[in-house]
Amino acid sequence: MAKPTTPPASEKPKQSQKPNTPSEPSHVVTPTIEDMAVFCKAKGFVYPNSDIYGGLAGCFDLGHLGVELANNIKQHWWKTFVQSRPDIVGIDGSIINNQKVWKASGHVDCFEDVMVECEKCKHRTRGDHLLEEKLHIHADGLSKDDVTKLIQKNKLTCPLKGCNGVLGEGKQFNLMFYTFAGPSADETTKAYLRPETAQLMFTNFRYVTEHARLKPPFGIAQIGRAFRNEISPRDFLFRCREFEQMEIEYFVHPQKINDCPFLNEVENHTILVWSSEMQEKNQAPKPMTIKDALKQKIILTAWHGYWLAQSHLWFVRLGADPEKFRIRQHLKTEKSHYALDTWDLEYKFPFGWKELQGMANRTDFDLKQHALYSKTDLQLFDEDTKEKFYPHVVAEPSQGVGRAMLVFLFDAYHYDPQRENVVLKLHPKIAPVKVAVLSLVNKLNDEAMDVFNQLKEHVVCAFDKSGSIGRRYARNDEIGTPYCVTIDFDSQGKDVTIRDRDSTKQKRVLRTELVSLVMQLLQGTLRFDQIPGKTL
Ligand code: ATP
Repeated sequence: MAKPTTPPASEKPKQSQKPNTPSEPSHVVTPTIEDMAVFCKAKGFVYPNSDIYGGLAGCFDLGHLGVELANNIKQHWWKTFVQSRPDIVGIDGSIINNQKVWKASGHVDCFEDVMVECEKCKHRTRGDHLLEEKLHIHADGLSKDDVTKLIQKNKLTCPLKGCNGVLGEGKQFNLMFYTFAGPSADETTKAYLRPETAQLMFTNFRYVTEHARLKPPFGIAQIGRAFRNEISPRDFLFRCREFEQMEIEYFVHPQKINDCPFLNEVENHTILVWSSEMQEKNQAPKPMTIKDALKQKIILTAWHGYWLAQSHLWFVRLGADPEKFRIRQHLKTEKSHYALDTWDLEYKFPFGWKELQGMANRTDFDLKQHALYSKTDLQLFDEDTKEKFYPHVVAEPSQGVGRAMLVFLFDAYHYDPQRENVVLKLHPKIAPVKVAVLSLVNKLNDEAMDVFNQLKEHVVCAFDKSGSIGRRYARNDEIGTPYCVTIDFDSQGKDVTIRDRDSTKQKRVLRTELVSLVMQLLQGTLRFDQIPGKTL
């Protein structure tokens, strides 16, 4: 296994290069991933990690707005999939784990990507990604020999600009980070940083099922950090070495994998479907309802169909563009050996269709592996048959927080030529700041602070007193604040104006009604144009 090393200068993220002061890409109509990185740094969402020392590839720090946005995404996910469902409970496992966890799961031996090295400049790159970029084929899961053969057959050279060096043979590279837990550094104290949150749901399976008194179908969910020593981290938050995941392991009785009592909630939901057969026959993806995809046996189990639809809906309900999603079935070459069926929820990023969420039917592979390695009984008892059984993980929705942030940021990003600035049309539920309180002139700051104090008990709000009022509106539009509340000379303690980010319309409202109106607007029970009174 390769030791984690300091990345070569060529790997460092673009956005960490000088100058340190970001130029604001406010003129950009459709941002690229590089524009988005510059925008996020300029506005205080995301900073390159260790930037003053030249950065560390694949690691990012969240600024104030980034923390709020990420927290809102995570809280909303938790609320939707854990707190609102009687069949799912949560855990929060440790990041550093006993090495046996990752031996049993297969990660220590097999969590590898194929790496190729340039014989001239020594730049290392991920073999399957190079093939995908240059040959436009799906290369995930190809062996090192197949990668080498395809590179040689197509005479591919070093991808670094101007190098063109010959590429060496593909080599396996393990992505696990490790450390030593204890006062010595040897094999006995070696401990791995988890490369996914998932395995902790299996190692805690017995405790969780006992304490939550759960019987299948049920799920265990977790949000937390994961670490992968990616060969070539890139595309800003899309591929990092440290990132957060939101994952569910959903357990079903093996005889009931088609018995989904919630299917009727989503069976008429339409999504773009790209089955392995369509990919093999070079056919384009087709829009289909979940019901049809199940009827035609494209999606193999009802539960898988249910979870794929739920995952898509979660994004759409938070404001993402439904047309930019598709589900893609894994080809035989890329599917894990234990998986019955695997689908990725993909999103059309500016750099192409990419995985947003992986969703494998993992069967009983993990529970059996941990039972074998730990010599613990991880079976459940079937009251009807009076027999023990291993439940099947019929779907494992697994999604990165950073990739979700990118989706919401890209879909919210609008350049308004009239305003001559960016308007980040984030859904109010995930907007980092819900209301900005502004005083027209400094003389009115005390009154504005009273309004801020009144609102802060109910929503995340900001008090902004510097710059012209127009500049303050623009600043809040750019960071996605849905409403600005302004105190002007006419306010006199009794009323304020409220401005809508998306339409720029304003209404005068009584201070006594402000909290209630703001709450209704944010919850979506009131539209801005329904607020009584004249539009200003
Ligand atoms: P990819 O094929 O893009 O490398 P993967 O198939 O290895 O992804 P999974 O192991 O299925 O990814 O992980 C589940 C989810 O975790 C992914 O869909 C993604 O949202 C997120 N994720 C995985 N690796 C990274 C990473 N290096 N940086 C950011 N998010 C990641």
